[in-house]
Amino acid sequence: MHCPQCGEKHHRNGTTTYDHQMLGAVLVHPDHSAVFPLAPEPILEQDGARKNDCERNAAKRLLADLRRAHPHLKLIVVEDGLASNAPHIRQLQALDLRFILGAKQNDHADLFDWVAATPETREVELTDAEGIRHRFRYLNGAPLNIANFDLEVNVLEDWEHTPGGKVTHFSWVTDFTLNDSNLMLPMRGVRARWTVENETFNALENQGDHFEHDFGHGNNNLSTVLMHLMMLAFLIDQIQQRGCRLFQAALTAAQSKTRLWRKCALASTSA
Ligand SMILES: [Zn+2]
Repeated sequence: MHCPQCGEKHHRNGTTTYDHQMLGAVLVHPDHSAVFPLAPEPILEQDGARKNDCERNAAKRLLADLRRAHPHLKLIVVEDGLASNAPHIRQLQALDLRFILGAKQNDHADLFDWVAATPETREVELTDAEGIRHRFRYLNGAPLNIANFDLEVNVLEDWEHTPGGKVTHFSWVTDFTLNDSNLMLPMRGVRARWTVENETFNALENQGDHFEHDFGHGNNNLSTVLMHLMMLAFLIDQIQQRGCRLFQAALTAAQSKTRLWRKCALASTSA
């Protein structure tokens, strides 16, 4: 069963499987584990042949919808390296959205050459509360690349040295003006993004929402409608988790979301 909007996977043995994917955005805060989904956007077959095109085209609609629904909300958009391209950054700027985006050296040779060659590039070392030593390098107002020389971004690199001697390199572009004393600030934003992985995907797939389960495809839009319903249910759970003492007490007593949902289902059946 499939529709014109299904994603298609063609297998070597000649068979084809179909699926529906969505691009999700969630509100995250570094100090809170609850996340609030915003404007989930279905990825359509027409969005492109490659995964990157699909996500970029769905992202265009998502951001426009997000701004229409929340015209005054102050937001910092935190995304991975797929997002640090000129058309996307220009759209973020046009919609008055601040940003912290991953930027890999391999994808941004011009930019990293510029940072390395500019005398204003600064290096700062500091140790955070967890004892991790950060060697930062940053530059404000660097051109994203030769083709988009007018598009200036601020670049931050971080070599993280754990006490055990492991070194990991991270790099981002942002529109926050960087200085020696605010370099940990973008890190907090990025860490908050990792919450998305832990909280959203885990909750949707493993804690009883069965997001990956196929509840039905329908003839036209049923699967997309079901996806939106599931995200609404997830939103309500998250609001309760963040703001409702009764829910928090029930969750603590049940010890896990899965157990809580099972008990709720049993209670409503017996009622
Ligand atoms: Zn379909």
